[in-house]
Amino acid sequence: MGAAALSTPAMAQDEQRFVTIGTGGQTGVYYVVGQSICRLVNRNADETNIRCNAPSTGGSVANINGIKSGALSMGVAQSDVQYRAFNGEGDFEQPMEDLRSVFSVHGEPLTVLARKDADIHSIEDLKGKRVNIGNPGSGQRATMEVLLDAEGWTTDVFSLTSELGAAEMASALADNNIDAMAYVVGHPNGAIQEATTTVDANLVPLNDAAVDGLVEKYPYYAKSVIPGGMYKGNEKDVETFGVKATFVTSSKVPEDVVYQVVKAVFDNFDRFKRLHPAFADLQPQEMISAGLSAPLHEGAKRYYQERGWL
Ligand code: GLU
Repeated sequence: MGAAALSTPAMAQDEQRFVTIGTGGQTGVYYVVGQSICRLVNRNADETNIRCNAPSTGGSVANINGIKSGALSMGVAQSDVQYRAFNGEGDFEQPMEDLRSVFSVHGEPLTVLARKDADIHSIEDLKGKRVNIGNPGSGQRATMEVLLDAEGWTTDVFSLTSELGAAEMASALADNNIDAMAYVVGHPNGAIQEATTTVDANLVPLNDAAVDGLVEKYPYYAKSVIPGGMYKGNEKDVETFGVKATFVTSSKVPEDVVYQVVKAVFDNFDRFKRLHPAFADLQPQEMISAGLSAPLHEGAKRYYQERGWL
């Protein structure tokens, strides 16, 4: 008995485990989600031997592909992208049966920001303009493709279509290289803050019949509002539609690792919520079901059951 008791901690020390969380651009909110989770996980590293890091990535689709290949252990992904990955639709040719939900996080409205001098006040006004639809691999790119489709448009309606990543689009707008940028993102965020403080720019309402159709058809889309007063020059609420950010992993990631990550977040939930204003209203009961189409990972389920949430 003595030997077994002694050998456990020694073995555990040798078995350093690494968790890599895929995020998004550094001026988005996913980066803060990943960094916040890792900060809480790493506080327990001496006990758990789990070391967490959360590099910047191309976004939702890139994160799910990274989890599929094993390059990432976990990642943040939009609820619409999660659904399509699990069911093998859109960017995903095959259903990803190993995909597992962990929890959902903040809401992410599809956010279109336009230079004031481009005079864009509706989806229709985007016709003939220079529009950044997002880098391949990003969630905004995936959602913009859905919106274009619903409008019966292709990118041919734009005079120029760019594929800049999240970190580059604010300066492209300020430098007058594009008229509008699309970003599926929580608020407030650094990219929209940067753009609205360096150039006169307005948020564009996305609320036509095609958007109504998307919200009616798909459970993961909902109407949403970007509150007025968050960004310079944008005092009024702006209607749009959006998704939820979700935290996902693979069934191949060991139960205990996911359990420890989830435990680090929810045992320190008040601390977590203070790490970004977009997290302020999060409620655990909602986070463990809303926006999740892949089954819960066993390690997450175990923690939620222990807390009596399931
Ligand atoms: N929703 C974006 C994406 O899926 C990322 C937003 C963010 O980084 O906060 O690529």
